[in-house]
Amino acid sequence: MSVIDHLEIRKAANIILRGDLVGMPTETVYGLAADATNDKAINKIYQTKGRPSFNPLIIHVTGHAMAEKFVEIDPLTRKLMDMFWPGALTFIMPRKQNILQHNAISMVASAGLETLAVRAPNHPVAQALLGYVGRPLAAPSANPSGTISPTCADHVRASFDLGPESAIGHILDGGPCKQGVESTIIKIANEQIILLRPGSLAREALTNATGLPVFTPQEIKNPPEKLEAPGNLASHYAPNAILRLDVKKPKPDEVFIAFGVLHADTLPHRQVRRAI
Ligand code: AMP
Ligand code: MG
Repeated sequence: MSVIDHLEIRKAANIILRGDLVGMPTETVYGLAADATNDKAINKIYQTKGRPSFNPLIIHVTGHAMAEKFVEIDPLTRKLMDMFWPGALTFIMPRKQNILQHNAISMVASAGLETLAVRAPNHPVAQALLGYVGRPLAAPSANPSGTISPTCADHVRASFDLGPESAIGHILDGGPCKQGVESTIIKIANEQIILLRPGSLAREALTNATGLPVFTPQEIKNPPEKLEAPGNLASHYAPNAILRLDVKKPKPDEVFIAFGVLHADTLPHRQVRRAI
């Protein structure tokens, strides 16, 4: 979709409002989006992805005005939202209490947690979809659980069975993702910025913008009780490929990952990846 097709996005919004799923482009990776207030729709995400139900989903909003209906936003979080939203920054925040049941974000989406992971994506198609749905969207990456995240619509099409039984009603094609890496996840605790998952937005960007240090959970002195990003599983982004170790020269169809000085003259350029 080079020019934004509002008719198509409105159709996709209706698919979400009837409780099905839509492939949604964002600036990080493609997401599999569902109405975040609809338990049944959220369950379809877990089933379609084969995602363990203890791994909560990121909730997507248009911006802080939509977010503040559902979560408690402290002053430092608000400042960071103003600086980096819409963008690749996800905040873990406490849920607001006393929200009418039909308006509340599904407890299934947060795997029973009293906190929510929330972000405003910086992609015109995602923003238009959120606008037409008028509700927050739960959207993990649009790939089967445990495989690498899709960065174009064709990856999404290739990853799922899209037959008549599929819960995925449509895939919006917003072109290749500009960033291609998941959002950075942070939590503010005792006015400290805690980095729960490194991602597209660099740790340095947060420090430069605020003048504050950014801590990993291991680095903070008085950790609050619950800090973990529960989806940080031991195995996460596993490409479907054979790994060979101690390779001196890759075969023509392999990608070569190496440390230190590379003798690139002996290798075709496109094969070389240096791990840093
Ligand atoms: P994904 O959607 O696959 O990019 O992953 C989202 C990440 O956010 C996972 O690591 C989740 O465990 C994490 N996450 C989502 N909601 C919460 C929450 N309420 N508290 C902590 N981590 C969360
Ligand atoms: Mg993912």
